Amino acid sequence: MNLEHLSKTELAELIQQNQSAPDARLLDQARAKKEHYYGKRIFVRGLIEFTNYCKNNCYYCGIRAGNTAAHRYRLAKEEVLGCCETGWQLGFRTFVLQGGEDVYFTDAILADMVYSIKERYPDCAVTLSVGERSRESYRLLKEAGADRYLLRHETADDAHYQALHPASMSLAHRKECLYALKELGYQVGAGFMVGSPHQTPETLAEDLLFLKELQPQMVGIGPFIPHKDTPFHAEPQGTLGLTLTMLAMTRLLLPQVLLPATTALGTIAPDGRELGFSAGANVVMPNLSPISVRADYTLYDNKICLGDEAAEGLQSLRQRIEAAGLEMDLSRGDCVGFEK
Ligand code: SAH
Repeated sequence: MNLEHLSKTELAELIQQNQSAPDARLLDQARAKKEHYYGKRIFVRGLIEFTNYCKNNCYYCGIRAGNTAAHRYRLAKEEVLGCCETGWQLGFRTFVLQGGEDVYFTDAILADMVYSIKERYPDCAVTLSVGERSRESYRLLKEAGADRYLLRHETADDAHYQALHPASMSLAHRKECLYALKELGYQVGAGFMVGSPHQTPETLAEDLLFLKELQPQMVGIGPFIPHKDTPFHAEPQGTLGLTLTMLAMTRLLLPQVLLPATTALGTIAPDGRELGFSAGANVVMPNLSPISVRADYTLYDNKICLGDEAAEGLQSLRQRIEAAGLEMDLSRGDCVGFEK
C-alpha cells in the first residue's frame, strides 16, 4: 500500500475503514517499513518535565494557565542536571526537556541550561519541547547545543485548531515555528492527539498531508485523554484502535520517522506500548523527572509515570521490549538519513 499519492479524500476513507483498528495489511506493512530502516531497535529517551507553569490556555491541557487547581513547580538548573546524571548512569543518551510555556525560562536561562547539559554530557542529544518561541530564541538554543525540538502541530485543520485553542493561538504561527526549527537545523518533531474533540477522519487526513509536506524526523501521536479541570473534562477519550491506525499510516508515509509509543498510549491500555511497537512505533520516553514532581505534571487524568514508565524501571522496560521480540537501544538514536 502506497499512501504517498493518496488524496485527502482517499486518506480520510482509509482512516474511516480502519477506525476501530488497523487491519492486518496496514500493520504488516508498517512493521516491515520500520524494520527495514531500524531493525528491531526501540530507542529510549529520558523525559525531564522541568516546569508545569504555562502562559497558554489550550482547552485540552491540564497545565493550562486557567487551571488554578494545578500545583505549579519549576526545577532549578542543578535539579535538571541531577536528572541528567541519573539518566546518564542508567545509560540514557538522549534527554528530552519538556515544559509548559513558562516565561521564567528566558532565552538566557534556557540556553545556559542546555549549554551546561551538553558541556557535561557531550555524547548525549538534547531535545527541547517548550512550545512556541521566536526564531531568534530557537537560533540561540540551537547554538547552545540543542539537537532536536518537539512541537506537535496538534491539528492541521484551521477550524479544528481554533476549537482546541483560545483565539490568541493560531495554526499558522505553530507551522511557522516548525518551519523555522527545521531551517535552523534541528531534528524536528510534529504530531497530534487522536480523538480530540471535533476531530474527524478529514482533519486526520489533513494531519497526514501536513506531515508529508513538513517531513519531520519525529512524530508524536497519542490518544486525547480528558483532564478533570479543563473545559474538555467531559469529552470522551481517544481510542486505542484509531491511535494505532494513525501510527501505522504515519510510518507508511514517513518510513524513516522516529515514532514514540507515547505515555498517553500506555495510559489508556496496559499493553499500549507493545501494540504501538507492532503498529510501527520505535521510541519510548520513560520519565526521568524527580519523583516528587511527577504527579504535578498532569496533562491528562491517570497519567502513568511509575513502574515501566519510569527511568528507574528501565530493566523491566527492557524485559517488556525483549518479550515483544525487540531490542532496547540506549544510543542517541538519530533519525536515519538526517545530515547533522
Ligand atoms: N508546551 C509544550 C509541551 C506541551 S505538552 C508545547 O506546546 O509543545 C506535550 C503534548 O501533550 C502536547 O503537545 C499535547 O499534544 C499533549 N497533550 C496535552 N494535553 C493532553 C491531553 N489532555 N491528552 C492527551 N495529550 C495531551
